[in-house]
Amino acid sequence: MAREMPHATGKVPPGDVTQRVGIEVMEARGVNVEELREKLIDAIAAEFASTYYYYTILRMYLAGHEDYKEICEDARLEDRAHFELMTPRVYELGGSLPYNLHEFADRAGCPHAYLPGTDNGQHAPEMGDGKGPSAADILEVLLDSERCAIRTWSEICDLTAGGKDPRTYDLASRILNEEIEHEAWFIELLSMERDGVVRPSGHFRRGEPGEAPYSKNRPLYNP
Ligand code: ZN
Ligand code: FE
Repeated sequence: MAREMPHATGKVPPGDVTQRVGIEVMEARGVNVEELREKLIDAIAAEFASTYYYYTILRMYLAGHEDYKEICEDARLEDRAHFELMTPRVYELGGSLPYNLHEFADRAGCPHAYLPGTDNGQHAPEMGDGKGPSAADILEVLLDSERCAIRTWSEICDLTAGGKDPRTYDLASRILNEEIEHEAWFIELLSMERDGVVRPSGHFRRGEPGEAPYSKNRPLYNP
C-alpha cells in the first residue's frame, strides 16, 4: 500500500502557475494577503523615499561632526538594505512596486525626513551668519523617522506573528532589530548634543558603513 503523503497535493492544481501555495497557506492561517502586501509597499516606500533619500541630505548637513555623519550613514545604508530586503516579498505576494517613482514616494507610510529650515523641502536652508540647520535639529528629524519605522515594522510583525506568515515575520523582525538600534543611537546623540545629558545606546560602531547585521541578506538581495 502506498505511503500517505498529505502534502503531495492541495487546493492549487499541479502545474498551475496562476496561483501560489505560498499565499494559499497564509490565507488558510487567516492573513489578509492583499492588505499585508499593500502595507509592505507603504513600508518599503518609507525606507526608500522618507529615509534613504532624505538621510543623504541630512548627512551632508552634519558637516563638522564626523561621528554623527558616520552614524547617519549607517542608518541611511541600512534603510536602503531594508528596502532591498523586503521588496522581493511584495512580488512573492503577487504585488508590484508602483510603476511610477512619484506614486511610490507619495505612498510612503512615514513623513519625509526633510532638512530643517527648508520648509519641508521647498528651498535650500539659509546658511548665513552661522544660521542653517543645527546638528540638534537634524538629530531630531532622524530620531522621529526611526520611531515611525519602529511602529511600522512592529505592525507588520503583529500581522504575521504566531506562525501566520513566518517568512514576512522573519524579514520584518530583522528590520525591526535595526530600527530599534537606530532609535537608540539618535537618542544618545541628541540627548548629549541638545541637552548635555548622557543616555547611552550601547552602540560602538558597525564594522563597515551600512553593515546591516540583521537585514543584509548578502548573497541574495543586497549590493
Ligand atoms: Zn529602516
Ligand atoms: Fe532606520
